[in-house]
Amino acid sequence: MNKRETEVFQTIEEGRDRMVRLLQQILRIDTQVPPGDDYDKVCGILEERYRGLGYATSLHEAPEKYMRLSGAKHICLDGPRTNLVARLKGTGKGPTLHISAHTDLAAIQKQGWTVDPLAGEITKTSRYGKSIFDKGGGYIWGRGVGDDKGETAALLLALEAINETSVKLKGDLIVTANCDEEIGGVAGLGYLIREGIVKADLGIQLDGSMTGIGLSAMGRTRFLIRTLGKSYHGQVPILGVNAIEKMSKLNVALNDYWRNVLLRRKYPTPGIDFGEGLRARGVECPTGMLNIGTIRGGVQGATVPDLCEEEVLRGMIPGETYEGTQAEFKAVLDGVKSTDADLQYQLETINFREGYVVSATDPYALECQALIQEAVGVKLPFTGTLASTDMNYQVVDGHMPCVNFGVGGPYSNGHGQDENASIDEIIECAKAVALITMRKLGAQ
Ligand SMILES: [Zn+2]
Repeated sequence: MNKRETEVFQTIEEGRDRMVRLLQQILRIDTQVPPGDDYDKVCGILEERYRGLGYATSLHEAPEKYMRLSGAKHICLDGPRTNLVARLKGTGKGPTLHISAHTDLAAIQKQGWTVDPLAGEITKTSRYGKSIFDKGGGYIWGRGVGDDKGETAALLLALEAINETSVKLKGDLIVTANCDEEIGGVAGLGYLIREGIVKADLGIQLDGSMTGIGLSAMGRTRFLIRTLGKSYHGQVPILGVNAIEKMSKLNVALNDYWRNVLLRRKYPTPGIDFGEGLRARGVECPTGMLNIGTIRGGVQGATVPDLCEEEVLRGMIPGETYEGTQAEFKAVLDGVKSTDADLQYQLETINFREGYVVSATDPYALECQALIQEAVGVKLPFTGTLASTDMNYQVVDGHMPCVNFGVGGPYSNGHGQDENASIDEIIECAKAVALITMRKLGAQ
């Protein structure tokens, strides 16, 4: 590292308290989704800070079309879908880098928290383990410290340090604080990239951990199935049509489809680790999945139910499109329908987001791996997940090579109760972001 870079790292260290205060401030705004209220408040705080650094900022509210595509009415979304875009024009020639972190939060469990999930308390240690980056700087607690407000704070700290050190970046930088990631990101980064509001050559998705560099994730489609029957007295069911019975038939077929067809559909990703737990179950790469997540129907034992409704989540491997997935899914249901004249069903899509993979031999991914190692002293492995992330929009729709990392590890309880993050780790994440930004955009 050169002298300027060392200075930036020092400035990051010195900004620790300011970073913690900002993080506490945004943690106290409840942006759980659904419903996803108050994105505008978080964006407002960040907008002011980026303006102060000389960034051109704009707020983008997803229009009705994207609300519909989000499945807003099924998911019960509420409030404006506000996204912040902050741009810093480069001083010379260089690529454009887009860095994204999301403003929404995973749902907060009503029970099981031993701290206030919206307070941002600080402790010396975490009883759930220790970050490998912990040098005694303590832990911060609350929903979002690891996913994804800790990353949001790390990103701002990195860019503040670059600014304070008077480093001039040659290429353009675009930062987004985008919403709704936890429910598919359609009205968040999906909207910004598909509408061409954000266009870049390279991407960083700050929505991962400091235990690996995420290069691949699954896509998913959320389906809603309804079976329609005919209500009758439950002691004379022979004269009714039982909607739950019909749904049971569909579920037998769906179960067979996923165990015998989807589980064999794989997308090999050499050099990308999906983790020991999955490996033990024979899954080493993106693999087709399906989950029957909810089922509802009927009023009582003595009435034949005329309606049954369930939600099914279909995990898509990279390359599987929504259209193909929907057609195949419908074919499974139609196969059952063709054997039963009384079976009537309706199929709706709540929303979808596709999967992606960046190759483990991609030059940008390898360069980021080396730069993160240079910044934090640890070579992070390339990893993949069966979950899905907004990096899809950067890779598939925006055609950017991209990497995903962030704050958190096994100790941090992401999405669980008592989410916590090592403050030293947030600082290290900021250094990794700063170094990639300076080297890729070119610093003067
Ligand atoms: Zn996240």
